[in-house]
Amino acid sequence: MSIELRIENLSKTYKNGVKALDNVSLTIPAGMYGLLGPNGAGKSTLMRTLATLQEPDSGTATLGDIDVLAQKDEVRKRLGYLPQEFGVYPRISVQDMLSHIALLKGITKAKERKDLVAWMLKRCNLYDDRKRALSGFSGGMRQRFGIAQALIGNPQLLIVDEPTAGLDPGERNRFYNLLSEIGEEIIVILSTHIVEDVMDLCTNMAIINKGQVLYQGHPQDAIAQLNGRIWQISIAKTELAEYEQRYQVVSNKLVGGRPFLHVYSASPLSNGFAPSAPDLEDVFFTKIRSWN
Ligand code: ADP
Ligand code: MG
Repeated sequence: MSIELRIENLSKTYKNGVKALDNVSLTIPAGMYGLLGPNGAGKSTLMRTLATLQEPDSGTATLGDIDVLAQKDEVRKRLGYLPQEFGVYPRISVQDMLSHIALLKGITKAKERKDLVAWMLKRCNLYDDRKRALSGFSGGMRQRFGIAQALIGNPQLLIVDEPTAGLDPGERNRFYNLLSEIGEEIIVILSTHIVEDVMDLCTNMAIINKGQVLYQGHPQDAIAQLNGRIWQISIAKTELAEYEQRYQVVSNKLVGGRPFLHVYSASPLSNGFAPSAPDLEDVFFTKIRSWN
């Protein structure tokens, strides 16, 4: 039986009155789990709570039989965490940096530490750059370093918060490949506002918005729920306001300079609409629209 993370009724209101988590309950099995939500949804608040860096107002979380909120040291031994921002980019080499982190994580034997660091550098494709400082790295290299430091100590729970934001497509692909090589035995929570991250990598997912869970399950089941309900149409810019008023517009993109709409409707639409095969982006926008 592999390990499971259970989150029950977590709530958090910040001092300024923002309710960042509103009764969040999720069951997260081993494998790659996508936590998808727009900016401000509460993702980082949840990730920091699970990483034992802040307290919720109420609720519980358990990792296997460990109480995440009470047994912080036990969680930290099993945790790898790549925060959304890690502010300092030190001037020491990435090799020395990883060695230092390994020491902090209790790997005290020099030879063992050296081998581990070398293996991790190779695994994250940073070996050729091992003598360079993080301060000179590109965004993609920094994120790969972020994974390398998070994987030291063999975590059972790996939390990566918005790891692909700001990466170019090539860097994003390299990062996906690295993540997908991490075993299915550990829990990996990938928090993101980018639908493709979840589509390409995750077998299970949740959608959150305004601190609330709007969906949890398999991406393909969420897509199947929209079968026959998404309609597409290309319109003139001058028609946009009218369409947004009359229809449940899921998304609106410019294609060839014209608005190209996806519209939600349970019953068939005529008047120039064509059926559209739903995808995860339709799911995401349908769930977070105010008309829903
Ligand atoms: P996400 O990571 O999904 O963008 P966050 O968890 O960062 O969401 O933020 C959720 C909400 O809580 C936002 O409205 C944000 O402005 C607010 N928030 C986050 N951190 C704090 C804080 N330390 N103090 C006050 N409000 C905060
Ligand atoms: Mg965030």
